Amino acid sequence: MILIQVKKILTNFLQNNKLRKTNERFAILKIIYDIKSHFDADSLYIYMKNNNYNISKATIYNTINILLNCNLIVKTKIKNHVTQFERSYGFKQHDHIVCVKCGKTIEFCDPRIQDIKNSISKLFRINIIHHNLTFYGLCKKINNI
Ligand SMILES: [Zn+2]
Ligand SMILES: [Zn+2]
Repeated sequence: MILIQVKKILTNFLQNNKLRKTNERFAILKIIYDIKSHFDADSLYIYMKNNNYNISKATIYNTINILLNCNLIVKTKIKNHVTQFERSYGFKQHDHIVCVKCGKTIEFCDPRIQDIKNSISKLFRINIIHHNLTFYGLCKKINNI
């Protein structure tokens, strides 16, 4: 169960950093792992409001930072203006294709990217921790108009 594992990671992180283990923080974590998609802080806030969570924007921002620090979420640079995030624990490394017109996002996994990473890593003697790769284009629906 991924949810049990990520809760444990968050609990340990909060304990080690002497942060409070509030229900809100765990509720946010659960929602992020339930929605299984990319999100930004404001849309997460609206989603939680609509689902009757009594939560402040400050708590959302603060918790997103905590989750970034314990590697439970990562930033994805798939939209130009808004910072988006997605859950990272237990999910396969993947990259994105975004339609610049309708915003449709496709996730894909190509093992050749891992090969590139390995050879770059060797060539420049650097241990690559993470990467961001997004292809931008026009999806078929738009192309046909
Ligand atoms: Zn499109
Ligand atoms: Zn993704």
